[in-house]
Amino acid sequence: MATIETEELPKAVLHEHLDGGLRVETVLEIADEVGYRDLPSYDIDELRTWFHQGRSGSLERYLEPFVHTIAVMQTQDAISRIAYESARDLAEDGVAYAEIRFAPSLNMAGGLTREAVLEAAHDGYQRGMASGDITIGGTIVCAMRQDKDSAEVARAAAASMHVGVIGFDLAGPEAGFPADDHLEACLIVREAGLGLTIHGGEGDGAHSMWRAIALCGAMRIGHGVHVADDTDFDGTEISHLGPFARSVRDHRVPLEVAISSNIHTSSYASPEVHPFGALYRNGFNVSINTDNRLMSGVTVSSEYALASESFGLSLDDLERITVNAIEAGFGDYRERSRIIDDVVRPAYAAAGVQ
Ligand SMILES: [Zn+2]
Repeated sequence: MATIETEELPKAVLHEHLDGGLRVETVLEIADEVGYRDLPSYDIDELRTWFHQGRSGSLERYLEPFVHTIAVMQTQDAISRIAYESARDLAEDGVAYAEIRFAPSLNMAGGLTREAVLEAAHDGYQRGMASGDITIGGTIVCAMRQDKDSAEVARAAAASMHVGVIGFDLAGPEAGFPADDHLEACLIVREAGLGLTIHGGEGDGAHSMWRAIALCGAMRIGHGVHVADDTDFDGTEISHLGPFARSVRDHRVPLEVAISSNIHTSSYASPEVHPFGALYRNGFNVSINTDNRLMSGVTVSSEYALASESFGLSLDDLERITVNAIEAGFGDYRERSRIIDDVVRPAYAAAGVQ
């Protein structure tokens, strides 16, 4: 099969962390501006290499760089700049629709309120979208599951819908921190009409996804790859679905899969044994996501290419995955429909999909 030029195709990303996608130049420039002295290097190439060493295969090492990216995201100017650059970098990569998430509680060390943090991100996205080549569907507000402030975060998210907040997420360590510990937060955001996605089935098993879906009402699942635990998966194919896996498939629960990130945090040794391909072939609603472009050293195009090469996906498959992702979005439905009809379909048709 010929290699697919994924850079040229319109793509969608639903699971992308703002604090995991900074430009290395920007980390250095803001660190200089705000007097942050704790970066592991002030040489751009060395620092880039250091960030990418998060790919070493331990979750701890993967998470270490966030201390530094978050340290340079403590003013409205910095957050707006980073949101702007994120939108531009995704647009340059051919992304037509993106939803970006982060935890505003981590951006308050400089005295900002959560609402001011979310307003700054919105300002950056608006500027990044001005040329019309990308739609940032909005911000997904994360609460950290190891922290106790999820209800407060949920209230800030609900109060910030006028500045582009479209959803809520529980992020952070999964094992030992069940989603339903944050039931109040989930009820607040659902009552407000926000979308609810929860990291699950990443660092813990299918039972953690079940709690997120059945107990908290999650509409999508971040990662969700351990749904394969409730199947007979031999590393290549799924031969039998358990009742939970069947419900996830048949109810079309969108799974925001990030293949490289899973490999870098040690869930899987290589793409060949990752369940993405088998889940897709069995009809699960999987999308292709970056999670953290900086720490994983990936782009949306490179993740599309990795999925295509590892699992033999055709152009037709990539189109279907892109459309499914945009349909699973939390942003304005009319705008998402426009992107599918006017951007995605024509471009894939021109590239050879019949
Ligand atoms: Zn994530």
